[in-house]
Amino acid sequence: MPSVYIETYGCQMNLADTELMRGHLARSGYAAADDPAAADVILLNTCAIREHAEERIVGRLGALARFKLRRPHVQIGIAGCMAQHVRDQLLARTPHLDFVVGPDAYRRLPALLGGDPFVDVRLDRDETYADLVPERGAGVRAWITIMRGCDKFCTFCIVPYVRGRERSVPSDAVLRQVREVVTQGHREVVFLGQTVNAYRDGATDFGDLLRAADRTQGLARTRFTSPHPSDMSDSAIDAMATCRTVCPQLHLPVQSGSTAVLEQMERGYSVDDYLRLIERLRAAIPGLALTTDIIVGFPGESERDFEATLALMREVRFDGAFTFAYSRRDHTKAAKWDQTVSAEEKARRLQAVIALQESIAAEINAGLVGREVEVLVEGPARRGDGWLAGKTLHFKTAVFPTGGAIAMGDLVRVRVTDSTAHTLIAQ
Ligand code: SAM
Ligand code: SF4
Repeated sequence: MPSVYIETYGCQMNLADTELMRGHLARSGYAAADDPAAADVILLNTCAIREHAEERIVGRLGALARFKLRRPHVQIGIAGCMAQHVRDQLLARTPHLDFVVGPDAYRRLPALLGGDPFVDVRLDRDETYADLVPERGAGVRAWITIMRGCDKFCTFCIVPYVRGRERSVPSDAVLRQVREVVTQGHREVVFLGQTVNAYRDGATDFGDLLRAADRTQGLARTRFTSPHPSDMSDSAIDAMATCRTVCPQLHLPVQSGSTAVLEQMERGYSVDDYLRLIERLRAAIPGLALTTDIIVGFPGESERDFEATLALMREVRFDGAFTFAYSRRDHTKAAKWDQTVSAEEKARRLQAVIALQESIAAEINAGLVGREVEVLVEGPARRGDGWLAGKTLHFKTAVFPTGGAIAMGDLVRVRVTDSTAHTLIAQ
């Protein structure tokens, strides 16, 4: 039986796609390998969101060439967003690359492997892989992709070009997967999509899907990522507020605190719109934990625009933020504009947003000391023997000394005794 080793880069959607490919390949006669040295097929599932992500993968491809020296039959390939983006350049400059498979071509992968080198990067408006069965790991959390692609075309972002048009997985297929993962022992589901709350299957919108999943027996928690602020409907907010399993936690990317920059980004909302949405969410879901994505150094971002981002962060007080220096991406509108912010200035702004966010998160977490929180136990904590780790309802990492017979997947109540910007220490 040939074996396949898959390495995953980038976001949770890619992790979920790896599980999808693994399941599809397993059913087509490929065993899973956990060491590239022993595999017949080595596959990198790649990310193209920033230049840095692509450089890492090019470096890794170079290092993998050695596996073909003694075992020349080994096939090395790339899948995912970067496959779609740089297929021709990469093939020309990487002689040991055997295949390139785009995000909508995974279904054909088993048939193409084992033969001549190939490139299959056709995008498909209808492909949702609804009938393929992913092979998931054993953790407490299961990722379920509910929609693919993106129609928003924010001017900085490559996703619509490499993942194609938006399409939703039929709701019966989503709900079947929810039931299956619960039967397999997962306690939490995370619905995934580039604009996950734009989900629609006929009359079923994203809020309806949350309400339907909420009725699944044995499901403890539901989360989703990433929603787009413009698609945050009353139906979705109502589902978040009322569903038993939906956690009071939201990752809601804002990108910038300047309306002028948001307009240039073509995000479809102003700073005021975003703040009003946060107000509605916080009114409906008391104690809601909020995280976000922030880009600094977008073309044309002035010092004042940047200050406005810091001001927004102080006003909203996010629990966490993924912060990025703007990276110019081919095909996008913003790639054609004057790149007005130098690399040094981007680095300075990035450091400033990181420092501010760390201090806010540390303050928020310090406010939890003394409180009881519910933790879904995920397994041993990295700090060593005798400690367990898990996530709170608000998606904060909590670590606590193990006591009694606590197992992975248990919901336990712990008391927070100390905290950092990223972790709650509890008893
Ligand atoms: N669809 C989500 C949304 O619109 O909110 C975001 C998905 S994207 C994969 C994740 C994040 O990467 C974005 O929110 C953005 O902050 C960041 N990102 C995307 N393109 C970028 C670029 N060209 N440079 C820097 N960061 C970028
Ligand atoms: Fe990219 Fe914008 Fe689509 Fe998010 S909504 S994936 S940032 S184009």
